[in-house]
Amino acid sequence: MPRSHTRLARIATLDGPRWVTIENERLYTLAGSPYDRWEQGAEIGSLAAASLLAPAAPSKIICVGRNYPAHAAEHSAEVPSEPLLFFKPPSSLIGPGDPITLTPQSSRVEHEAELALVIGRRCRRVTPEKAWQAVLGITCANDVTARDLQRQDKLWTRAKGFDTFCPLGPWIVTGVTEQDAADLQVTCRVNGEIRQQGRTSEMVFSPAQLIAYISSIMTLKPGDLLLTGTPAGVGPLAAGDTVEVEIETVGVLHNPVRDSEEDA
Ligand code: ZN
Repeated sequence: MPRSHTRLARIATLDGPRWVTIENERLYTLAGSPYDRWEQGAEIGSLAAASLLAPAAPSKIICVGRNYPAHAAEHSAEVPSEPLLFFKPPSSLIGPGDPITLTPQSSRVEHEAELALVIGRRCRRVTPEKAWQAVLGITCANDVTARDLQRQDKLWTRAKGFDTFCPLGPWIVTGVTEQDAADLQVTCRVNGEIRQQGRTSEMVFSPAQLIAYISSIMTLKPGDLLLTGTPAGVGPLAAGDTVEVEIETVGVLHNPVRDSEEDA
């Protein structure tokens, strides 16, 4: 990993969530705001011993449907002529290692491995040429979807919005260039078996085009998340599974899947 890439994580502490940086598998305090100026402080322990949280506290999670032609094709859907946007609620966020909890309302919950962009600065009506400047960094996301409810409902709020349906992490990698982000491998494994594999170069609308388009509608704020769509190969999850999303340059986000009855 080039030195310009910094890993930013959020950890649980007795005083609440705290931002840290990760270097050589050790954690360091971060003085200041990850969205503004910050400095690396004292070492506070090992990555292995830390309890990582979702590395963002967004005001909104904006998602893009059918942004990979091969995924649109597996649902016999057209590639949209403009980005197809929907939201996931911030209450659906979970961190690395947290369980995805199935719901009795659905008999078909599926994984969708996605590149997530974390917005670093407020932006409105930004041009595609300047859009990447608004990105703090990238991370892995899983746009967990109740596929049967998505087909049944006209709007996708329910299918995409259950608690635990937005695993994110394990950390944000900063300093990734627009060119680097344009060709990264995105993989999803369930119980170690590859289910999805694609490259961000296959996207219909690039990250910069998406940010420009979205910012023509709504103001993007620091911490907001943009999930950029999923490659082909989506499939079902069952209780007891472990699902991993791996993105080149970032790392692996892993989450177990559990039944709704285990939800205390
Ligand atoms: Zn998706």
